Parts: sequence; structure tokens; C-alpha cells
Amino acid sequence: MPEANQPPTLVDIPFDKRHLCWFCEEPCNLHLSYWRMPHTPHPSLSVPACSECLKIAKQQLLTSIWDCREAVKDQLMARYQKDLAIGVNWTEQELQESEFDCKIFGGFKKSAWMMYQIAKQRMNAKGWPLSIDGVVLENDPFQFGKASLDFEFDGLQFTHLTQAIKHYSDAMALDNGFLTQLVTLLGKDNFGHAIKLARLNNGVTKTMQQKILAELMEDLDQ
Ligand SMILES: [Zn+2]
Repeated sequence: MPEANQPPTLVDIPFDKRHLCWFCEEPCNLHLSYWRMPHTPHPSLSVPACSECLKIAKQQLLTSIWDCREAVKDQLMARYQKDLAIGVNWTEQELQESEFDCKIFGGFKKSAWMMYQIAKQRMNAKGWPLSIDGVVLENDPFQFGKASLDFEFDGLQFTHLTQAIKHYSDAMALDNGFLTQLVTLLGKDNFGHAIKLARLNNGVTKTMQQKILAELMEDLDQ
């Protein structure tokens, strides 16, 4: 048993991925500690993370490290939409040949393309299959060549859990953050129950939300 204050075991890191964030493969020197819940399909573990991904991940631990990963990617995508749009609207050559010739726009051309490249690489970064002390995590969906984490609820198919959470919070005007935390606590299999609780408590204050979550947490500990 690890001591209470010690972070969980660090996953194995391939040689060529040393010092890279597991989420976006940017250089990093921090770790995300993922403590398991009763419904978590893998042991508690730590993965290397850059400060930006770490911050996002902590808000959206969800029901497994892989769900968490999808949520981080979603958030990065939303955050860098403007940078990513450069590549949609321009090719590098077009940008070079464009008439932005004065000094200011010349700088824009270069940095805009660079920002696009970085954002794209971070979005596409695959991390690596997780193992601890050489033992592959058997529930790792990406071990089986899956590209996404399908999630189905009420006959609707989603590419991953965060997409489902977004869909239901938009459709029912629920607090997205609260629903995310409820799902994190209750697990995927209780998605319907999480929605029910979010609906019942729709519009309550943040303090009240925290109280509800704390009570649920206590129930889970028993
Ligand atoms: Zn990162």
C-alpha cells in the first residue's frame, strides 16, 4: 500500500517519450495523480503532464484515465480553435505567398503557422499505451487499436463520455461542470443517475453542489 501522501505509481514511460506530457506530448516536468474510485477500471496511477493539461485534467478526471484524456483533448481543441483554424483557412504556401509583406504581417505569417503546427501536434499526440512495471493495463481501450472511446446512452452513440456530458448539459440546460463531477463520482454505468441528480439540483449554488458531491463521496467510501 502506498503511503497516504505519496502519489500513485508512475506509469512506464517509453525511452523516446521521456519528459513528454502523456496528453499532448509537449515537454513537461509535472505529473497527474489519478486515484481510483470503486468503478475505475484501472489501478491508481500517475502520468507525466504539462502544466496546461494537468490543470484541465484535474477538473475532468471522469471515470478512467482514458476518459480524462479525451476531455483534455476536447478542451485543448476548444482553446486553440483559432490557431487550428489557420490550417483550415490557409496552406503554408498560401500564407507565404500572401501579401502580408510588411514587417508586422511577416511576423504574423511565421508565428501563426508555428502556432497552428504546435496546436495540431498537441491535438494529434497519441501518448502511449499504459503499463505499470511492464504490465500492460488490460482495460486500455487503445491497446486494441480503437481510435475513440464510444459511449452509448439511451440509444444515442457518442465518440466519448465528455461529448455525451456536453450533449445532455446543453439539451437540458444543466451545469456542465457539476454533471462532469457527478459522472466522475458515480461512474459511466450510472450516467442516468448522474443526469437525474443534476436535474433535481439544477440551479443550486456552487456551495450546495460541493455539499452534494461531498455527501456522495461519503456514501461511496462506506
Ligand atoms: Zn500536455
